[in-house]
Amino acid sequence: MSADTKKPALTTEVFVGPQATMEGGKGTFSPTSSTLICGEHDAVLVDAQHLRADILALGDLVERQGRRLTTIYITHGHADHYYGITELLRRFPTARAVATKAVVAYIRENEKNQEKQWRQMFGDRVAIPADIPEVISDKLSLEGHALEIYELGQADITPSTALHVPSIGLIVPGDLVYNGIHMMLGLGGPKQWGEWYRNVEALERLAPAMIVAGHKKPDASDCEVARIFAETKSYIRDFESAAARAKSAPELVEAMTAKYPDFGNPWTLRFSARSRFPRSV
Ligand SMILES: [Zn+2]
Repeated sequence: MSADTKKPALTTEVFVGPQATMEGGKGTFSPTSSTLICGEHDAVLVDAQHLRADILALGDLVERQGRRLTTIYITHGHADHYYGITELLRRFPTARAVATKAVVAYIRENEKNQEKQWRQMFGDRVAIPADIPEVISDKLSLEGHALEIYELGQADITPSTALHVPSIGLIVPGDLVYNGIHMMLGLGGPKQWGEWYRNVEALERLAPAMIVAGHKKPDASDCEVARIFAETKSYIRDFESAAARAKSAPELVEAMTAKYPDFGNPWTLRFSARSRFPRSV
């Protein structure tokens, strides 16, 4: 038996915060995932939620697993993925919250804007953090298993990263990949969409067995990787061509809804469509 096969296999627990209604019923926010990777004694959490109730429920899940939380890895700088760090670090003082240098810089640059936006969307339900993640300075690992960070750049924003755990074929891609939810294409244009598409292909080449999308339907399988990659790529391409043909935001929404009738959180599609036709309602 090689040294490698003696290591106990890692396991994963996926938490999905439910779709949240914005203040004044102005829209809904996608269900957002956090992934706990468990070894025999220790655990690493990927992404931290943003609403108090969900951070609490995520903390309960971590506690139930009975592992020592060593690290909270943040995939990218959007508030829905990192706002929970202060409450989680208080609850799990053995952990530290980390992100790449570029992601930490994004968080610093956008701190004030995001706080304003998130307060508008969620009022007192949002947990504004007192901390930001530390810049990661060493390689991540969990009980001898490598946790590899891929700095891919563009997803819905740049910089975006994915975490790859080769020993169990797991990818936690942040918002590079979606699963059954309308994708946030309203923060970029065709150039960014093209880069995003190529980054999805780069993750696909890693041939994972499991991929936990940053935004996913709570009951969608994380193991149907071929479907998840195919849908993420076709959604980007279909939105691009529908945006080029449509004459208005409602027309674009209609075209995409016809192709993806079962996708969750149509508010994201309306947001993306309005960003292409800012003057239409
Ligand atoms: Zn997100």
